[in-house]
Amino acid sequence: MRFDVAVIGCGPAGLQAAIHASRAKVSVALIGKTANSAAAGTDIENYFGVGEASGDDLLSAGLAQAETFGAEPFPLNVTAASAADGGFALELEDGTSVEASAVVLATGVSRVKLGVPGEKELFGKGVSYCASCDCNFYKGRRAVIVGGETEAAVSAELMTRYASKTYWVWDGVRASEAAVRRAADAGAEMVAAMPVRILGDDRVTGIELSDGTVIETDGVFIELGARSSADLAMDLGAMPEMDDSVKVDASCATEVPGLFACGDVTGRPWQVARAVGQGCVAGTSAARYAKEAGP
Ligand SMILES: Cc1cc2nc3c(=O)[nH]c(=O)nc-3n(C[C@H](O)[C@H](O)[C@H](O)COP(=O)(O)OP(=O)(O)OC[C@H]3O[C@@H](n4cnc5c(N)ncnc54)[C@H](O)[C@@H]3O)c2cc1C
Repeated sequence: MRFDVAVIGCGPAGLQAAIHASRAKVSVALIGKTANSAAAGTDIENYFGVGEASGDDLLSAGLAQAETFGAEPFPLNVTAASAADGGFALELEDGTSVEASAVVLATGVSRVKLGVPGEKELFGKGVSYCASCDCNFYKGRRAVIVGGETEAAVSAELMTRYASKTYWVWDGVRASEAAVRRAADAGAEMVAAMPVRILGDDRVTGIELSDGTVIETDGVFIELGARSSADLAMDLGAMPEMDDSVKVDASCATEVPGLFACGDVTGRPWQVARAVGQGCVAGTSAARYAKEAGP
């Protein structure tokens, strides 16, 4: 099947890209599963104009909008991708082949997991991977930040502005000295041990550490960074940055002609507002590119 534009990813970035590309009157394949978006199952409370919104509601409304404007959905994963003569060739998990003059990569990131008992069971019940997203829910409550890099230090500092008590747990912190100092000055208590188990039945109640101690807490924020779907970018000819993000210019174009990227896959901040803004730019740019490239 041949399309002008193929959008890979059904999160806020990909959906917005598909909406803008299809409104520009080019044919659009929208590939991916909304259920696998980072926004699925979340409550978004910092997106312009919508107050508190369910991520699932935003995703299903966005998908319906994209379809209304003519995008053809393929709720499937891309299993192989390559740059072909005059465009790109994608292979989907059910064997369908999709060719496109332009591709928008909107594949997001996947948060690095800690890998301890209780983490999966209590996700969304006090376990979070995004302090900047969920800090407001911890006003006057206790929070533990987990991680050794600068992003954990920044999260610990941020959390002190909301939580009644913030612990920062990691053995062998490698964050920048300045970031560590700022977190400590803000009042985060540093604990040099590794988490071994997250405790709680219906909600997080504590975290058990490698030295045998237990910290009582209402929330555990795992800030270990993320992996992006950079492999697909490489298959399409774009070399990811050292942090696995995909570099784009102001028009969301990558170094590969016809390949555009938007949203979390292009770097921080990992936020719906940024994903949507870039999705608009990438979708518009990809449609323009496809029109100029011709059939
Ligand atoms: C717990 C949590 C809470 C959050 N809270 C907030 C908040 O309050 N406010 C806020 O602004 N942000 C929040 N975020 C972040 C927000 O969800 C992300 O920034 C946003 O979803 C990024 O959009 P995206 O489209 O770039 O990527 P995603 O939404 O992650 O979408 C990526 C898409 O790519 C698809 N994909 C990946 N690989 C393939 C492949 N090979 N083939 C086909 N499809 C593929 C996935 O299936 C998915 O559809 C939160 C995130 C989490 C995890």
